[in-house]
Amino acid sequence: MLGPFEAGSSMAAEHQTDICIIGAGPVGLFAVFECGMLKMHCHVVDALDMTGGQCAALYPEKPIYDIPGYPAIDAVELIAKLEHQVAPFHPVYHLGRRVEQLQPRGEGNGGDGWLVRLDDGSTIAARAVIIAAGVGAFGPNKPPLAGIEQYEGKGVFYLVKRREDFRGRRIVIAGGGDSAVDWAISLAEVAEAVYMVHRRPKFRAAPESVTRMEALAKAGRIEMVVPYQLAGIEGHDKGITAVSVATLEGQTRRLEADALLPFFGLAMNLGPIAEWGLELERHHIKIDPATCATSRPGIFAIGDIVTYPGKLKLILCGFSEAAMAAHAIYPLVHPGEALHFEYSTTKGVPKE
Ligand SMILES: Cc1cc2nc3c(=O)[nH]c(=O)nc-3n(C[C@H](O)[C@H](O)[C@H](O)COP(=O)(O)OP(=O)(O)OC[C@H]3O[C@@H](n4cnc5c(N)ncnc54)[C@H](O)[C@@H]3O)c2cc1C
Repeated sequence: MLGPFEAGSSMAAEHQTDICIIGAGPVGLFAVFECGMLKMHCHVVDALDMTGGQCAALYPEKPIYDIPGYPAIDAVELIAKLEHQVAPFHPVYHLGRRVEQLQPRGEGNGGDGWLVRLDDGSTIAARAVIIAAGVGAFGPNKPPLAGIEQYEGKGVFYLVKRREDFRGRRIVIAGGGDSAVDWAISLAEVAEAVYMVHRRPKFRAAPESVTRMEALAKAGRIEMVVPYQLAGIEGHDKGITAVSVATLEGQTRRLEADALLPFFGLAMNLGPIAEWGLELERHHIKIDPATCATSRPGIFAIGDIVTYPGKLKLILCGFSEAAMAAHAIYPLVHPGEALHFEYSTTKGVPKE
């Protein structure tokens, strides 16, 4: 379903396009559609090696209930539908690539467009830039366990992409928030064993979820390992074999396991975006809500990363901002051409 794919390219390529979108979350993806409808071609860059942003990375199998027209839709399905919807506009994806720098082209302060520099040295020259970078570069908070990196992806997972991958496994879940509790409940249906490790008896998750988890523990489907903290991992080059845990008093236990899922929240920061000379307010980019223009010419921002009076961090608000940004960018890409507002029902979309 994805368009041309540039992940992992070792050559420092030089690309040229109308618009470079930073972030392939739901809002960045929909911006491809809105720009495409106005005959503007897009390259899309994301630091993750998949599209979907928070939807794909944090809650792929959770239903979303406030997407207009869908009474309920799993996050991963929404992303698949967005990819399908933008495919006729042939975006070029650069996945697994972080945008490091934005440099004005020509003499101006961005009036002549921007050169977007990626972490592999490749560049994208664009007439305009749309920043749809969500909460910025995000990654899991990792437990301080010696050698944990060698097991990442081979037994240690910070997110669950497919519940089925854990069928019949012995799973250690660590953490006290919603993700830890929700996954303990969900995986208890398919796993051979679920151990729930938390440093204190009180959980921060939604009370109804905690009640369900405790019921499953009573029924013998989840074993509560409380108050314990992660202390070590045993394994070999193909995966893990056991997780050791300890109390603050030094009591230890060894849990035989095939998978460790630490859910200690996300480390979020704007990353390089903070260095791009944009006007910020409490780690968000300030925009003009009528156009989504930032404080620098030719740079627009939409979605969770922006702030303006009344901003709501909802996917549907990001979709609306994508439409407004595309209309505001049109004169930069098509100077001198009048933009006649038309409905999609009038225009139709290109055949794939
Ligand atoms: C558990 C949970 C449940 C939610 N439920 C709902 C709900 O029911 N309804 C709803 O409307 N919203 C919900 N949300 C919020 C929703 O997911 C966000 O509003 C939405 O994901 C924002 O989309 P976005 O495209 O702006 O940013 P994101 O989805 O955050 O995507 C931004 C992308 O930008 C990339 N990026 C950042 N910096 C760079 C860089 N320098 N270079 C390259 N790439 C970069 C990131 O890797 C990321 O993939 C929920 C969020 C969570 C965590």
